[in-house]
Amino acid sequence: MKNYDLIIVGAGPGGSIAAKTAAENGLKTIFFERGRKPGEKNSSGCGLGPRMFRDFPELMKNLTPEKCPSMRAGVAARNYFVNDNDIVAGYIMARPTESVTYEPAKSWITMNVYRSEFDPWIAEFATNAGAELKNSTLIVDLLKEDGNVCGVIDEKGEKYNAPIVIGADGVISTVAQKSGLRNRWAQHQVTITSQYDFQAVPEKINNIMGDEALAVWWGSNFPASYQVFFNDGFHQGLGNWMNWWDKNPLYYLNRVINLKYYQRLLKILEAKPRELQAHLLPWLDYPYNTHTNGVILIGDAGGFPCPLEAEGIYPAMVTGKIAAEVAAEAILSGDVSRVALKKYDNEWQKTSVGEEFESGRELWNIWKALPFSPKETMSWFVPMIMEILGGIFDWSQPHAKRIRQIVSHVKSYMPKATPFIMGYVFPLVAKIFEEDLDKIMDPKKIMKILPKLLDLLPEKKKRRSDKVK
Ligand SMILES: Cc1cc2nc3c(=O)[nH]c(=O)nc-3n(C[C@H](O)[C@H](O)[C@H](O)COP(=O)(O)OP(=O)(O)OC[C@H]3O[C@@H](n4cnc5c(N)ncnc54)[C@H](O)[C@@H]3O)c2cc1C
Repeated sequence: MKNYDLIIVGAGPGGSIAAKTAAENGLKTIFFERGRKPGEKNSSGCGLGPRMFRDFPELMKNLTPEKCPSMRAGVAARNYFVNDNDIVAGYIMARPTESVTYEPAKSWITMNVYRSEFDPWIAEFATNAGAELKNSTLIVDLLKEDGNVCGVIDEKGEKYNAPIVIGADGVISTVAQKSGLRNRWAQHQVTITSQYDFQAVPEKINNIMGDEALAVWWGSNFPASYQVFFNDGFHQGLGNWMNWWDKNPLYYLNRVINLKYYQRLLKILEAKPRELQAHLLPWLDYPYNTHTNGVILIGDAGGFPCPLEAEGIYPAMVTGKIAAEVAAEAILSGDVSRVALKKYDNEWQKTSVGEEFESGRELWNIWKALPFSPKETMSWFVPMIMEILGGIFDWSQPHAKRIRQIVSHVKSYMPKATPFIMGYVFPLVAKIFEEDLDKIMDPKKIMKILPKLLDLLPEKKKRRSDKVK
């Protein structure tokens, strides 16, 4: 039996930050990775959010193309809108806007990296701080004494002892299950995502995409699909909650890949498929059961990805740091009980991650109801958006007449749009502005007024020439 102050299962970004923080707090720390090295078992790549650079500046300033050659800044993001006929009906490009308050968020939306480079890079900070990393080691169970967790067992039967175990072991967390904190995720709490990774020459990507290194494909026929460009390639992924699928996830991902527009993009980028992957990802409206006697769950193991877009690396790092700090305090005080570890919840709830989850239910609901509901919502949302954005650039009629046609056509979407706005948009707005609600108009009143305002618009306009007569 080997003895430690703290055991961490998993060397993803969450586990590594927890190990680094614990070692810096003077704890004898070990973190385990089932892969031959950190990052071996993760999805091909990811976009790192700017909050990581704001909140972990000392660490992130070291992330350079020399250390992580796959780096590519996602400065601009395309949003493609694909209609029922599998035609790209239009797209909107977005960049960091004027109201963004800090660097590097003013310069780019995400910094894109491959996990096979990023995860070992971040794990090295933990080992440099003195934590012991044990690769190629699958943890299969928890050690218990008088019902309390006091260590872990690996697949070879080797035992490791510590008063606290941090579960940083991702979506299918052995620590969560063996500690009794959770069984499997329910189907509506976990998504399955399939993903193609393509290789392309960096110069081609530079010349063709420039700094547009992110895209979301909003489909009438498939759940929203994301595209992330790295230095020498990109990936295209598509997921949805487990209880959504009526067909194999690849059927929907292939719909994106087989779009004529997409095929043209592959051709001009001379992109070659490199890998096909499938991953699970917890996607909750609020994390729950995050700790018990001698156990804390962080990152994916605790269900912390963002409730709107499932950004998961930053929350894993934030919860990893807090968990290690709370563990250090608990070990020093000799009280590692569930009651003492409740401090973990109190602390993460005060962070940017906690603030995100305050509107968790409303954010989660709107994502479920819009981009992840192609048939119910996107089938009218895409043509409506295109009518509003694209209709005006049309020479089929005098422009004033076109605007009347567009307004009248948009009115025809109201029977579908109104319940959506009432059911998902207003609850979110109300939640965000809840303290100021009395200052803004009651959403129900607005919904009553809006159709009347539209009705006020006359169907026909008298021509000026008629008036002259
Ligand atoms: C397809 C896809 C795309 C994504 N894109 C993004 C993105 O662009 N940006 C973003 O921020 N997030 C993204 N996410 C979410 C992000 O990947 C996760 O939220 C994040 O990796 C969570 O970090 P973690 O440290 O909690 O867990 P993980 O990164 O999952 O790390 C867990 C580690 O534990 C190891 N492990 C598991 N079980 C055991 C065991 N029993 N014994 C030993 N080791 C074990 C695993 O091998 C792994 O290395 C994406 C997720 C998916 C699935």
